Amino acid sequence: MFRDLTDGPNPGADGHPEREAAGEAPPPSAMSEALHGLGELDLAIDGHLDWLRQICRALLRGEPYDPDELAEDADQHCTFGRWQQGCVHGLLQAHALFAELGALHHQLHAGARGLLSAQRAGGGLDLGELAGFLDLVVAFNRVARRLHSEVITDLALRDPLTGVLNRHSMRQHLEAEWARFERFGQPCALAIVDLDHFKQVNDQYGHAVGDSVLRLLAETLGRQLRCYDRLFRMGGEEFLVCLPGISAEALPLVLERLHRSAEELRLPGWALRVTVSIGAARFEPGSGVEDSLRRADQALYKAKREGRNLVRLSLG
Ligand code: GH3
Ligand code: MG
Ligand code: MG
Repeated sequence: MFRDLTDGPNPGADGHPEREAAGEAPPPSAMSEALHGLGELDLAIDGHLDWLRQICRALLRGEPYDPDELAEDADQHCTFGRWQQGCVHGLLQAHALFAELGALHHQLHAGARGLLSAQRAGGGLDLGELAGFLDLVVAFNRVARRLHSEVITDLALRDPLTGVLNRHSMRQHLEAEWARFERFGQPCALAIVDLDHFKQVNDQYGHAVGDSVLRLLAETLGRQLRCYDRLFRMGGEEFLVCLPGISAEALPLVLERLHRSAEELRLPGWALRVTVSIGAARFEPGSGVEDSLRRADQALYKAKREGRNLVRLSLG
């Protein structure tokens, strides 16, 4: 059950949150941040095509170019380089192709510098070097396009609000875990985590604060997990944690840790506390994903019925 505490900043006397009254915009969702990042990537790539045109004109027609192109760190000062250094969008930045693109970009500028310097020294245009430079141009644009499309694909598998995997990804993932369970006997448990009385949080603090709680809960739960565990937003204020390879002895400890982490959740600037109820079930031979989900859901229902802020494990 959530409750107001008086040991921190409180909503206004009328029960209306001060922040909301001040009209502060809610933080952007993970989805809108990533889309913004992709828009910036497009602009940076466009900027780089302009750069390429300028370099080609300089090389092929002797047109003037910015002398800074000859500097060792020219790649850090062009549109793309500035974008990449300033990029703070997690989904893009964490992607392996992001670093690969940066390396290709560096090589591109080194290639342009080599060609321009040779030309400046009166050596003319080395066609072999030019061909190598054009190969880099193609590779750079291919990797940029792949980065763009892989981030879009990744977004389709994620919940826009919290950035964690969505229900669609959940199905695929659980079926794969079930196959591993059946084939290799690797145990697996599912835990449904549901915020208690979350409707009241929205009613009292507003939907934007409710959204922040959902984001924070996803972050907090995610921090409790091992690298091969997975967190999904099932929908609304319900999350599912998939715990492959977990032993019967370790499971209650993990569930308790998840439970406690939600209770310790603090939304900066708000004297608001939340609790969660958790229903869990292990994969059992001869059943299936649907049955495991149903048993976890029944355990959750039990936790709610018995007073909320509780963990219940299906006994199979
Ligand atoms: P219980 O303890 O029985 O789970 O009570 P509850 O209020 O949490 O459950 P109920 O199903 O009655 O209400 C769920 C609430 O979750 C209502 C809905 O507005 C809120 N909710 C669902 N999705 C979102 C969301 O994306 N953002 C916000 N802010 N609220 C959401
Ligand atoms: Mg709830
Ligand atoms: Mg619910």
